[in-house]
Amino acid sequence: MTDTCATPAAENRALSAAQARQRMLDEVVPITGHEFVPVRSALGRILAADIIAPYDVPAHDNSAMDGYAVHFSSLAAEDESRLTVVGTAFAGNAFSGLVGQGQAVRIMTGAVLPAGADTVVVQEVTRQEEGIVVIPPGQRLGQNTRRAGEDLARGCVALPAGKRIGPAELGLIASLGIAEVEVKRRLRVAFFSTGDELASLGMPLAPGQIYDSNRYTLHGLLNGLGVDVIDMGVVPDHPDALEATLSEAAGIADAIITTGGVSVGEADFIKEILDKLGEVRFWKLNIKPGRPMAFGKVGQAWLFGLPGNPVAVMVSYTQFALDALHRLSGMDPVPERPLLEAQSANAIRKQPGRREFLRGTVAVVDDRWQVRTTGNQGSGVLRSVSEANCFVVLPETCAGIDAGDMVQIQLFEGLI
Ligand code: AMP
Ligand code: MG
Repeated sequence: MTDTCATPAAENRALSAAQARQRMLDEVVPITGHEFVPVRSALGRILAADIIAPYDVPAHDNSAMDGYAVHFSSLAAEDESRLTVVGTAFAGNAFSGLVGQGQAVRIMTGAVLPAGADTVVVQEVTRQEEGIVVIPPGQRLGQNTRRAGEDLARGCVALPAGKRIGPAELGLIASLGIAEVEVKRRLRVAFFSTGDELASLGMPLAPGQIYDSNRYTLHGLLNGLGVDVIDMGVVPDHPDALEATLSEAAGIADAIITTGGVSVGEADFIKEILDKLGEVRFWKLNIKPGRPMAFGKVGQAWLFGLPGNPVAVMVSYTQFALDALHRLSGMDPVPERPLLEAQSANAIRKQPGRREFLRGTVAVVDDRWQVRTTGNQGSGVLRSVSEANCFVVLPETCAGIDAGDMVQIQLFEGLI
């Protein structure tokens, strides 16, 4: 099966990954609070208002290269031109005179283009003789110059509200001379694990118990997102404890992430509580791992009930909760996640029906992207994620692939 494994998913009975993501994005309502922060502290935050350019960037026409500033009409079309050098323009120290016919000004990168000059000839093609610069033919009008406002014109929207501020945006804001930015307040996300079998770190393991790893994975995922995290610990599979923790979380957080307790059987028990406290739907998703999920509202907080298996947590968080949290934070638009194509180094067995997220390592082999899955792909095997740098995404229709087939991948970079 070659082609179907590299083509987008078809619809199926259970909710597809694309449908679930879209429903969440359609439903959640961005937070409204905002605050002013110094520009450096704005890294990773969401702009609450448009940033309007207070002036042109760059502010003046200037040189893009080290060379000589001339008026184009001083240059002969077919012959060398010999121009008199009348001064030097430095970045931050302009040449104040006029560049006349037959004249040139030595100019450095970033220096203001002197009056009378419209073209810069790069130093490397010229020859210097006693106060004269010799310029070969073949120059173009306006070459090697940067025009005032070519980066940002005064009055334009330099950055729109909803934009997440990364390194380029920090620099851009600084280039406008702006020292304080209006950003959305941080999203508050509470999370806890559910399960009688879970022990917290520092406790000895009783027979049948396992250490709670999901809270640590979520701690990492959420801290990378730049939200305020509220770790509410482990909650046993007991209605009163669960109800109390959910109520408390709903009172202090914008979003609640739980893990465990949403699979068939367990879900009935949680359902009653969630019905009482809010409006939550249980979804059967057409994906693997991560089939069961709950989504809805508890009081004023949005609830993301993820499955318990550690890898399923990472899949359902990255494929659904992450973008919903972005939208909640005020990010607009929430970007689509690109799928890239790579050649699979190994065969992968799969039944048609569900969209599968395997873990793989992608690297360039013989000038093309090649991906190899990372060992045991069980939904509890976190090592398969730790050793990987991407998801291998096999669409619903795919019925397994052979080594050498093309597959879609989703890089972890920017995702986890
Ligand atoms: P559940 O969704 O509650 O049925 O859990 C599914 C599987 O994930 C079970 O094997 C659980 O023991 C395991 N699991 C649930 N929560 C955690 C957790 N916080 N850390 C590690 N494993 C977990
Ligand atoms: Mg459980």
